[in-house]
Amino acid sequence: MTGPGRARCKPRSAIGYRLDRAFASETDTWAGQRGTAVHDYVLPILAAATGARIEVPTEYRGIPGHADLVDGGSVTDAKSTTLANSKLWADDTSLLKPKLIQAHGYAAGLVDAGELPADCTVRILVIPVDGKFGDWWAYEEPFDRAVADEGAERLEWVRDRLEAGMPLPKDKPYAWCADWCGFFDLCRTPAEAEELAEIEDPEIKAAVIGYGEAGARYSAAEKDKKRYASLIRGLHAKAGEWKVTTTAPGEAKWELDEDAVRAEYAERGADVPEVLKPGSAPKLSVTRIKPGKAAES
Ligand code: SF4
Repeated sequence: MTGPGRARCKPRSAIGYRLDRAFASETDTWAGQRGTAVHDYVLPILAAATGARIEVPTEYRGIPGHADLVDGGSVTDAKSTTLANSKLWADDTSLLKPKLIQAHGYAAGLVDAGELPADCTVRILVIPVDGKFGDWWAYEEPFDRAVADEGAERLEWVRDRLEAGMPLPKDKPYAWCADWCGFFDLCRTPAEAEELAEIEDPEIKAAVIGYGEAGARYSAAEKDKKRYASLIRGLHAKAGEWKVTTTAPGEAKWELDEDAVRAEYAERGADVPEVLKPGSAPKLSVTRIKPGKAAES
């Protein structure tokens, strides 16, 4: 599959808007274009090195696609992403499920066309664009037609709901949609920005939990550091593989007495000169919901 946005999974509402041929507005497409450029650069090199065919057309249950790399016994889908996402996927490979569904769909079409054996391998090649070659990794598993069918049935489910005029689930959080989805203006309302809705997207959910748990570990580590500091401050010594030093106290410095300056200006009936500074950047906060509150919110 090629084109901007190829590295993103397909929320069901967005599939619906595409099936409905709704007009998508322009969003920032840089990440998608960057992914396409990396993809177009890397595939011929990998093909030359491995003898695989690239961009092989395939179709399964009426869903067309292009498999990135196909050799005699495997299909590989290359996904360029950020290092942060790559780590998230490596820590929990179940997050690769939407990508694997797509790749198993490609494999199913190729098996049915006699281009791959039924015992072929399906592989996701992860390419972090802000990493090094050493950060590339691959996940692979045996072809499973049931996984391909899951993808086809998901598409049929969206089609059926559309035909019945029923609403489609909004799989992505509001802020993600605002940044990435061309159907945002059609799909979301400003009131939703204030809602503390449960995140359905497994990848974004894992990122929030990962951030929250890292923050909790950081706070606990800060508390431990404070506790130990009172015992070791002032030492200049070694303890096994650790060394401890303490810098000399800083020298006293003169600084502006703002209250006195303001008082002096006020006495003279003049305004203190001021410049308007931009407000602070939005602050990200992930905190654990107190037991009992989770059910209410
Ligand atoms: S705005 Fe969000 S929920 Fe709506 S179609 Fe786009 S990704 Fe899906």
